[in-house]
Amino acid sequence: MKAVAVFPQKREVRVITDAPEPRIQSPTQVKVRTREIGVCGTDKEIIEFVYGSPPPGSDHLILGHECLGEVVEVGEAVRGLSRGDWVVPRVRRPCPHATCPPCRGGHPDFCITGDYTERGIQGAHGFGAEYFVEDVAYLHRVPAELREVAVLTEPLTIAEKSVRQLERFQDRLPWKAGPGRAVVLGAGPVGLLGAMALVRRGYATTMYSRSPKPNAKAEASEALGVPYISSKEVRPQELVRRVGAADVIYEAAGVAKAALETLKALGPNGVCILTGVPSKEEPFDVAPVLKDVVLGNQVLVGTVNAADVDFDMALEDLRHFQARWPGGLERLICARHSPEDFCDVVTGKKSGGIKDVIRFI
Ligand code: BGC
Repeated sequence: MKAVAVFPQKREVRVITDAPEPRIQSPTQVKVRTREIGVCGTDKEIIEFVYGSPPPGSDHLILGHECLGEVVEVGEAVRGLSRGDWVVPRVRRPCPHATCPPCRGGHPDFCITGDYTERGIQGAHGFGAEYFVEDVAYLHRVPAELREVAVLTEPLTIAEKSVRQLERFQDRLPWKAGPGRAVVLGAGPVGLLGAMALVRRGYATTMYSRSPKPNAKAEASEALGVPYISSKEVRPQELVRRVGAADVIYEAAGVAKAALETLKALGPNGVCILTGVPSKEEPFDVAPVLKDVVLGNQVLVGTVNAADVDFDMALEDLRHFQARWPGGLERLICARHSPEDFCDVVTGKKSGGIKDVIRFI
């Protein structure tokens, strides 16, 4: 079958046509026909050979971790899913160690050994192929009315895990009256979906992103009622004067310097949630930032991946977003491409702007 694969040793990325079609091998497995995969910054790092790894013994990794597919066959012990249902798979699988409480307790997103696998990223083939087989435990059924937008589920789970934890962090402030103000740093798909999740939870949200207006991301943000401010035009101190100090910064830019600078906009007792994975960076003096973190009782937290509850919540939120902002999710999916265009899309040569999607059939 056809699949999009990276060969790290040979430094190649290409469509292969001889990937073996997977078969159901246990009664709880499900065979899924891939419909769409979303591409993101992680895919870019993988095809630049700076991140990710093939399954043990394989010279290649099949890409794709943001996926929407259709069930074509179910194992005999599978309940709750049948042929014709549409599903989204989770990404991370637990490590094998008895000594890892998170993995043993169903939270591989908090794995402490680092020996987890991630489909399409780390040690396990992804979903960027005509078919994949997965245990039913890692699949979430997609309601029919969400099929056009459900490829956004996985990037939305990053926000879901964040806001779920945010509520717990702020339980330390029992006098808190309301959700307050949020600043989202970075108007890519994770940022825009994060803004939607924050608005839904009552935060007065501002988008803070690099490119000056006009641009498609600013338009998408403002269509949600989320004002867009360019960090090239407005420094963080000025941002505070304009919109007030943030109770939450939701970082989705993946640039450490930008994240640390934006911390100047975080108010007392605020929480900064870091979701972007920074790579090549310039040096930055963190001492003044850390001083404010201490004196301001602030929380700095990193978050990666997501749990099953976050996928359920993401699907529920997608439905809510559809009703609240008709067309808002659709406009995030700027273009659908063929698998052959994967490389050009990931490197930006064929990018349509916000979330690019590869369509398999
Ligand atoms: C994926 C996560 C994954 C992370 C680190 C992100 O792009 O959405 O599922 O855990 O990369 O590999």
